[in-house]
Amino acid sequence: MSLLSELASLHPDSLSSPFWDACKKRELRLQRCADCGAFRHPPLAGCPSCASTRDEWALVGGRGRVYSHTTIYHPALPTVADEVPYNVVVVEFDDAPGARIISNVLDAEPEEIHVGLELELHWDDCGDGVVLPRFKIAQK
Ligand SMILES: [Zn+2]
Repeated sequence: MSLLSELASLHPDSLSSPFWDACKKRELRLQRCADCGAFRHPPLAGCPSCASTRDEWALVGGRGRVYSHTTIYHPALPTVADEVPYNVVVVEFDDAPGARIISNVLDAEPEEIHVGLELELHWDDCGDGVVLPRFKIAQK
């Protein structure tokens, strides 16, 4: 299991477990305020827009685009020495405005990734019950 997968298996808490439970079912569900409808991620106990503590977990389609990105060339930890270079992207979604998740684009060279790049969700089964939402460049 890679470091990236190990990080995802860190102990979900009561706030984040609905996200990870949905991932195991290959459903991307993001927290949405049950009162004003504002999305938020990572999960929070209260809505930053209206302070409501009522929330729901909305199913998101999985089509998104790169909001921001970087490429890691230096292996800060020995565990990722075989993985560099790898990208880290912040992804936003049309059907979940305001929520952004941090992930990776699979099968992409660093120079292919740019702000606005259209992505499609790809479930990455890392074993040991860890299923990560990762992305591939969307096919036109
Ligand atoms: Zn709200």
